Amino acid sequence: MKPIVKSAKLSNVCYDIRGPVLDKARQMEDEGHKIIKLNIGNIAAFGLEPPDEIVQDMIRNLPSQTAAGYTDSKGLFAPRKSVVHYCQEKRIAGVTVDDVYLGNGASELITMSMNALLNSGDEILIPAPDYPLYTASVALSGGTPVHYLCDEGSDWFPDLADIRRKITPATKGIVIINPNNPTGALYPESLLREIVEIARQHQLIIFADEIYDKTLYDGEQHVSIASLAEDVLCLTFNGLSKNYRSCGYRAGWMVVSGDKRHAQDYIVGLNMLASMRLCANTPGQLAIQTALGGYQSIKDLVAPGGRLARQRDLAYDLLSQIPGVSVVKPKGALYMFPRLDPKMYPIANDQQFAYELLAEEKVLIVQGTGFNWPYPDHFRLVFLPNSDDLTEAVGRIERFLGGYRKR
Ligand code: PLP
Repeated sequence: MKPIVKSAKLSNVCYDIRGPVLDKARQMEDEGHKIIKLNIGNIAAFGLEPPDEIVQDMIRNLPSQTAAGYTDSKGLFAPRKSVVHYCQEKRIAGVTVDDVYLGNGASELITMSMNALLNSGDEILIPAPDYPLYTASVALSGGTPVHYLCDEGSDWFPDLADIRRKITPATKGIVIINPNNPTGALYPESLLREIVEIARQHQLIIFADEIYDKTLYDGEQHVSIASLAEDVLCLTFNGLSKNYRSCGYRAGWMVVSGDKRHAQDYIVGLNMLASMRLCANTPGQLAIQTALGGYQSIKDLVAPGGRLARQRDLAYDLLSQIPGVSVVKPKGALYMFPRLDPKMYPIANDQQFAYELLAEEKVLIVQGTGFNWPYPDHFRLVFLPNSDDLTEAVGRIERFLGGYRKR
């Protein structure tokens, strides 16, 4: 029998958040082990259910003919209109219902945006570390991911000089994840303006991932980069997964804004791909309308004293006390990206490190190289587990690292 092999398109695609270490964890669970999972931002799994208002509307809508039917490829009018209003609140100018695409989560739209654009050899600038879907989607689309560094010494802000150095005639766009996964960085307006200026000079499309734009600590405010870029083509991604704790409803959106005059053909491509997948799931679309029209979001949990704010502080304090571990305190999102001093922890292969931590201490993290970070000296954890579980988990990481130092 001839072997059946995966397509060559997949040879450079990697998504380690759900990769081999998770497979190992599943196998251990099947064998009866209890694993503390710090690997995925699946909020509802940690006792943080979606807001009542959204759940109740979902139950009400499900039996309706609308919910059971297909919709326009871009989505139903009313939820798209609610996204237009959201753009108005975020001061993104000139957005009409026609510029809004609803998707089965932001993920589908991110992949679509790259597929509709890229030819072989086209380059997209992507942060390192990144949310790995971007690198994977660009590679799957036949494009070339080019990573620009984010600087841990400067609150994990993008290194603008590195961005400029990496622009070539083949560069089509730049991905900005703000607030950032995996670092928790939140970019100030001045920095966003500088990025817009680079995009303007080099005619780059800005792909702005703002899925954590309400998941902000210490009373911080979020500025949408598209609100500063009326003359630059921007695709902004957002959705209910994080801010409304509804990952499973698969409800996301993409907004095309800025200078669209030269992008008509790309927009035809986006529409074509939107049509090919028929439409996003209709109950999820209806949930967008409810969420954006209501007042219940993640805000109370991230406000000072809220559960997520307390867990962020706890994880930060506990990690910072471990010898050789340093971590930038996140201002947004659900993650930390601690550094392990290579002198104390000479890790050659951080996936192996993650395996060993899992095997010895039953704690699941994701290794830093899974986020396209170039060195094996970081890992990501989510601070979603409650305080007791977080304390236990970081205690186990500390014990494991203590053993590692003695090797
Ligand atoms: N973008 C970022 C930065 C994320 O962290 C995630 C999920 O973790 C997504 C997009 C995926 O969002 P969705 O659930 O809407 O597909």
